[in-house]
Formats: sequence, C-alpha cells, structure tokens
Amino acid sequence: MINKVTVYCASSDKVAPKYFDAAEALGKLCANNDIEVIFGGGGKGLMAKLADSVLQHEGQITGIMPKFMKEVEWQHKEVKNFIFTETMSERKTLLIKDTDAIIALPGGCGTLEELLEVITLKRLGKFLKPIIVFNQDGFYDPLLKMFENCIQESFMRPEHRQIWSVANKVEDILISIENAPLWDQNAINFAAV
Ligand code: AMP
Repeated sequence: MINKVTVYCASSDKVAPKYFDAAEALGKLCANNDIEVIFGGGGKGLMAKLADSVLQHEGQITGIMPKFMKEVEWQHKEVKNFIFTETMSERKTLLIKDTDAIIALPGGCGTLEELLEVITLKRLGKFLKPIIVFNQDGFYDPLLKMFENCIQESFMRPEHRQIWSVANKVEDILISIENAPLWDQNAINFAAV
C-alpha cells in the first residue's frame, strides 16, 4: 500500500513543456490515488507544477525547505503543510524519513544530488524503500550508463542495480513502486565490492 511518496524535482522554469506535463500528470496520479506527496517546497519549475497539480486535484502535499529559502520567498505559496529546516542536509533527511518511495523526475544538480544520496544510503542499508528513476525520453540514460560503468569497473556490484527501478512513463511509476525488489538492512553486508 502506497500512502506517501517523495518526489525530487527541479526548480528551473525554462525546461521544455513536456517536463511540466509529466510533473502535472504525476501530481494528478498521486492525488487520485490518495497518495500524499512530499517535495522540496519550491514555488518554481517542476516543483511548482507538481504542487499545483496535487492541490488542483485535492490531494495532500507537504513541502520541506531550509529557512534560508523561505527568507528569499522560494516556497510555494498555496501549499499549507510546510516543514522548515536549518540546513539542506536536514531537509534531505526529512524528505526520506517517513516515505514509502522516492521518485526522481528529471532535474539539475539539486535533484541529482538528492537521488545519488538516497541511492548511496540504500546501498548501505540505511534506506530501504523503492527508488524510481523517471527516465522521461531517456533523460537519465547518461546516469544509468554511468552506473553500468561503475558496475563494469567493479566500483559497485551487479546486485546494486536492484537499488533503483526505471520508469519510462508517468503511468508506470506506481507499478514500478509496487514491483520494486525488496531490500533490507543486510545490504550493508554487500555494500562493499
Ligand atoms: P535542481 O534540480 O538543480 O533544480 O535542484 C532542485 C533543488 O534546488 C532543490 O533543492 C530546490 O529547493 C533548490 N532550488 C534552487 N533554486 C530554487 C528556486 N528558485 N526556488 C526553489 N527552490 C530552488
């Protein structure tokens, strides 16, 4: 049963309309399935579109944002549930704390950093939930290729491929969460190569 998902998404307003369409579709999908959305709280870019869509479809959404971003008024104005943190790392900790899954939409360095951190924590058995890479039109192909390179060159193990799942369409994301391989704390035993 999926009650809550964390969505990593970008702050840029300049990306192609297809990326906004996907964020909107994901917001609707979550709201229509009574899945609460946790996000970075931004009022711009894909973050804003996701939140607008959740609210428009009467879903639940919570923003988690460092205080310094609130001070420059980066927060989404219509989202009522907010947690303000001292630091970026505290924000990342809370983003993954009580969630049922992580979904990474296409994004910039902030999204990539969040995604790589949670993949690393899962490798170490410190985060156990599904991580879905939304590979819209092959956006994440270079990163997935990089992971293959890591495995090929023995910086990671083949078992580590099971840490993340790839979804190519928004409508496949919830199925990918449900079908994600189980992962447990014993992952620490094969974290090292
Ligand atoms: P990126 O994928 O690089 O856009 O990273 C998203 C991250 O950047 C999130 O942690 C955002 O909170 C943060 N961020 C950067 N610029 C903004 C902005 N103008 N408004 C809100 N969040 C932003």
